[in-house]
Amino acid sequence: MVKKNKKNAKEQKQPENVVETKDSLILKKPKVLTEEEIVNGQPVVNIGLVGHVDHGKTTLTERLTGKWTDTHSEEIKRGITIRLGYANSIFRKCVQCNMFATQQKCECGGETKPIRKVSFVDAPGHESLMATMLSGATIMDGALLLIAANENCPQPQTREHLMALEIIGIKNIVIVQNKIDLIDKEKALKNYKQIKELLKGTFFENAPIIPISAQKGVNVDRLIAAIEEIVPTPYRDETKDPVMFVARSFDINKPGADLMKLIGGVLGGSLIQGKLAIGDQIEIKPGYEVEERNQKVYKPIRTKIISLMTGEQAIQEAYPGGSIAVQTTLDPSIVKSDKLTGNVVGYSDKLPITLSEIKLEVHLLERVVGTKDDVVVEPIKKLEPLMLNVNSAATVGIVTEFGKNSITCKLKLPICCEYGSRITISRRLDNRFRLIGYGILKK
Ligand code: GDP
Ligand code: ZN
Repeated sequence: MVKKNKKNAKEQKQPENVVETKDSLILKKPKVLTEEEIVNGQPVVNIGLVGHVDHGKTTLTERLTGKWTDTHSEEIKRGITIRLGYANSIFRKCVQCNMFATQQKCECGGETKPIRKVSFVDAPGHESLMATMLSGATIMDGALLLIAANENCPQPQTREHLMALEIIGIKNIVIVQNKIDLIDKEKALKNYKQIKELLKGTFFENAPIIPISAQKGVNVDRLIAAIEEIVPTPYRDETKDPVMFVARSFDINKPGADLMKLIGGVLGGSLIQGKLAIGDQIEIKPGYEVEERNQKVYKPIRTKIISLMTGEQAIQEAYPGGSIAVQTTLDPSIVKSDKLTGNVVGYSDKLPITLSEIKLEVHLLERVVGTKDDVVVEPIKKLEPLMLNVNSAATVGIVTEFGKNSITCKLKLPICCEYGSRITISRRLDNRFRLIGYGILKK
């Protein structure tokens, strides 16, 4: 297991109205939103759905949000989530019986009142899509780890995702024991014990385990209650310069659209700090690749914000928290098909520098997770290609130098990120990248 590194290099002195709890930074007196502000505003928290393929992440996302996130044609064909899916949900509480719900009418017949708007990030569970899962994980404030109760636990990516959450430092998780409609009590208990065994010795030893059926809608109210208890709205500094991690980028024009009516490229992601507003001039880094004097270099892209959306809702200003979509004046061909995924958005000249060579202080795991058999993590070798994930970016780094606890890598795609950031390290084993540890970005 990973050494619990409580002191994050990014940690700073907090303002007075912020408290540090066991797991997170939260506001002492959170701003109370009106019902209208909750319903029409931006989600205040990002919750990831992770776990092995087919354990029910997309089904649960639909149950909680009413939205089927698996909408890409390729995803439908292969029946698995390939990209990150986003969907918002309004959590509600019944005024009559106090039960949690997502519907306006409670099962008891009473009215429900909105309490919090939540953004869900549905991460793919297939072993070949670990990079996408890791990109999504950096914006998660908490996560639901789905475990199918009708299968033996742990399945490979159940362990790998759990380890990834621990490495990235996501502390608030709820274990969802799904598909309980398929098993009897005895099997459920056996599965529960296996889950407990899996969690033993990890940071998540005491995480709640909620049995549900995502498909039949059983116990979803208890799951919402657990999320409300375990994943508080974190404190984020709105007064700092904005930093947004781009998780998706799209061309939203219909094929064959009138050239004069083309809508500018859209960036999807989350603000980590600061605010963005319509009309803001923004910079996107690393940006795009150009050749200068026979050398490939990256140039930041400058553009302007035309509109802001959260889910289907237009907003004037965007805050740190749930996922947002930023429409720009960019040529849609620059952003289409997730071309700008992994970029960072902020004000011009206020973002960290772009790096194409990095030095990392390395922390390796003892064993590789995610494989069927236990494999010991061998030391990193010179010229070895590693997959590195930071913020929402994934890149391959070739190891050019290595010491006892540090490496230098030349990156295939440059990254834009702060010194002190945590970067996950995966290595190629049996034709797949497997998580083997993390590094801290050094000057
Ligand atoms: P994902 O790969 O984790 O996103 O899993 P999906 O949501 O695509 O679900 C995989 C399969 O399991 C689908 O056929 C679902 O209909 C089914 N499934 C999901 N949740 C449940 C459940 O609670 N009970 C039963 N019986 N089937 C479920
Ligand atoms: Zn009720």
